[in-house]
Amino acid sequence: MAALNEKEFQNAFIQAFEGDDSGDRTPRQTPGKLYSRAAPTPVESPELLAWSKELATQMEIDPPSQEEVEILSGNKLTDSMQPYAACYAGHQFGNWAGQLGDGRAITLGEWSSKNGIFELQLKGAGPTAYSRHADGRAVLRSSVREYLMSEAMHHLGVPTTRALALVSTGDKVLRDMFYNGNPEYEPGAIVTRVAPSFLRFGNFELLAAQRETKKLQQLVNWTIDRYYPHLTESDRIIKWFEEVVQKTAFLMSEWQRVGFVHGVMNTDNMSILGLTIDYGPFSFLDHYDHSFTPNTTDLPGRRYAFGNQPSIGYWNLGRLANAISLLFEDTEELEKALESYEKIFWDYYYGMMGRKLGFEKVGKDEKELISRFEKVLSGIQPDITLFYRLLADLPSEATPEVIIKHLEPAFYNDLKPKEQEVLATLLTDYSKMRKNSRLSEEAIKRLMNRNNPRIILRNYLLHQAIEELEKGENKLFLRLQEAMKTPYASEGFEDLVQKRPQWAETKAGCSMLSCSS
Ligand code: AMP
Ligand code: MG
Repeated sequence: MAALNEKEFQNAFIQAFEGDDSGDRTPRQTPGKLYSRAAPTPVESPELLAWSKELATQMEIDPPSQEEVEILSGNKLTDSMQPYAACYAGHQFGNWAGQLGDGRAITLGEWSSKNGIFELQLKGAGPTAYSRHADGRAVLRSSVREYLMSEAMHHLGVPTTRALALVSTGDKVLRDMFYNGNPEYEPGAIVTRVAPSFLRFGNFELLAAQRETKKLQQLVNWTIDRYYPHLTESDRIIKWFEEVVQKTAFLMSEWQRVGFVHGVMNTDNMSILGLTIDYGPFSFLDHYDHSFTPNTTDLPGRRYAFGNQPSIGYWNLGRLANAISLLFEDTEELEKALESYEKIFWDYYYGMMGRKLGFEKVGKDEKELISRFEKVLSGIQPDITLFYRLLADLPSEATPEVIIKHLEPAFYNDLKPKEQEVLATLLTDYSKMRKNSRLSEEAIKRLMNRNNPRIILRNYLLHQAIEELEKGENKLFLRLQEAMKTPYASEGFEDLVQKRPQWAETKAGCSMLSCSS
């Protein structure tokens, strides 16, 4: 174990690449640079709101002293920290956006432990060269969401960046939450984010767009050496891209498994390590709806809706392939690797859906049934989390009436007779398949309950916890922090295992969110 203010931080990224070392934080273009140095801007009166003990143990970091809370709020740096903001570019909502970059995230350095090297980043620590017209700050609301959700995703078993700490800053931050001309002051906060790397597809796109072929080659080599060290052959760039394709496909299938909607799948928000990154207007699904998007900015086209995520993953990989195509004389292999996405995704997807339904293996009959489930559930739109947990306990030999009654707690509306009939037929066929399984009923239930979470961080719960915190009360926040550590447990936290209440259906911050954070 080591203390934050004593341990020597490493700075491998900025040692390896050319950056803008001026420390100037005036918004500007920085062609050819991979980062700009940027010191965090001090805050008024930082207070530690949360500390992730599990992650700290994994990283071998001591709990923070009051002096170290100053580090977590950007008020203090140690000698070995060389803070910087990374420069990247990206496609936003399908359009090329040019240079972007860490507008309010500042990397302090790299922390090494026997469990690996982790980058530490303060999100909301003040302006950088890439803040454009914004203030570089983050509000409590969005910071609480990122802190709780990234840790929840980790405990759900979904690849993600992590959150080590959450501090309130004591400063006020002006935000127009719904972009409707009603800005208000909100309490500010900072999340300490952690990941082996925060590199995004957009870092590669930036250098390609600037025709910086040598630097692009250098960044690709660095990424492979450091994060894909098993790739050592001369064809390692293509093998690396194949792995990024595979990791992205896996991530998309995992989001489908737990019902996570990211909300802003721009290429600057796509991790090169296949992690869930940049938590903004995300949401879990309550009712099952492929067209659901939590992001108000996404409403016109629903580009980032739940059901579109896998194909957007592919589209984004296409942008990455395009960027690194500069390094290939012949792009045939690259195109082949990109095209392999579809099969890889569907293999993951059917395997994943099979486990959700308790199948030992997925063949033709199981695939057919999975498709029927998709169709029927899309029509009925039950609460998808409650539905799968109830399904695990489906009584065998049940009549249609008993089946419907058993699943009733998951329905948001009364089912029409036709819907009841279709659902009962589907579940009778499903029960038959379950009975013919080589697995025992107990083994099937265990398999299902390991793959279908019981506790998810619903938006209305986050909303309530944030409202309380803004009033200085942290009871629900602490309960959510505890509950999300055991998302598959069969009991406990009964009050959190409920459908979205009716009041939350249309309430701002519960059903729809904006990027304003
Ligand atoms: P996002 O949609 O949150 O991934 O952000 C897109 C870009 O805008 C990124 O380059 C962010 O760093 C930047 N950005 C978002 N919010 C702020 C803010 N409050 N201050 C400065 N830059 C921001
Ligand atoms: Mg982003």
